[in-house]
Amino acid sequence: MLNIGCHLSASKGYAHMAKEAISINANTFQFFTRNPRGGTAKDISEKDIEEFNKIVKENNFTKILAHAPYTINICSANEDTRKFGIDTMKDDLQRMEYTPNNLYNFHPGSHVNQGVEVGINLIIEALNDILKPEQTTTVLLETMAGKGSEIGRSFEEIKQIIDGVKLNEKLGVCLDTCHVYDAGYDIVNDLDGVLNKFDEVIGLDRLKAIHINDSKNPFSSHKDRHEKIGDGSIGLEAFVRIINHPKLKDLPFFLETPNELDGYANEIKILKENYKE
Ligand code: FE
Ligand code: FE
Ligand code: ZN
Repeated sequence: MLNIGCHLSASKGYAHMAKEAISINANTFQFFTRNPRGGTAKDISEKDIEEFNKIVKENNFTKILAHAPYTINICSANEDTRKFGIDTMKDDLQRMEYTPNNLYNFHPGSHVNQGVEVGINLIIEALNDILKPEQTTTVLLETMAGKGSEIGRSFEEIKQIIDGVKLNEKLGVCLDTCHVYDAGYDIVNDLDGVLNKFDEVIGLDRLKAIHINDSKNPFSSHKDRHEKIGDGSIGLEAFVRIINHPKLKDLPFFLETPNELDGYANEIKILKENYKE
């Protein structure tokens, strides 16, 4: 079975997101843990969690994916900005324990003018502070397009972070198809080659989720603008190969395409029609 969902608004709580997912034939979803600009998170209601747990159990959901606010930067040169990001992630991970054993994705960060090495070391230092032995959540580093001074533009950078973190059994990777294509990994013409490279550098056992997005920009553009499935430079045929690849087909796929709920429903329908059990 294709495990697939899309990005949903968290404003009405967990049970509401689960119901929305079911309404579009999804068995998972992604959501922002709080306003993407940062700020305080909504209180978690025990009743909402109870209802959510019941729904996901009855409907055989796979792991859900929480996304950290994309404005935090745990490798900022500014200590206050760094601390804000670290505190936000610590708080998010505490809240994630209301829904244990799921996934939490974040953007590694932007080094701005500090250089990649300094940036990577700050990310390692931050993760060594954030991760706790008792947490049940797996924290995913997202592969980035390499726009500006983004870290995570190559598998080597991600691997370097993982290697530096003490509790790295808590770490995994979320591969974003738009980002890796924009970063110069040719998943259209050489999917096997890209996956072999991922395996060689990071290890495919670290790959825990896929962000499935088409790209508005050409290969290796380092841009990061998502497009609807089939309408961008990656194209539907490549996505059919991606969801059916033996090394990927059992992972959860999350759409972050420019869509409302009905557009997501349509993309899920098309992908399911093209999925070979
Ligand atoms: Fe992201
Ligand atoms: Fe993404
Ligand atoms: Zn993106």
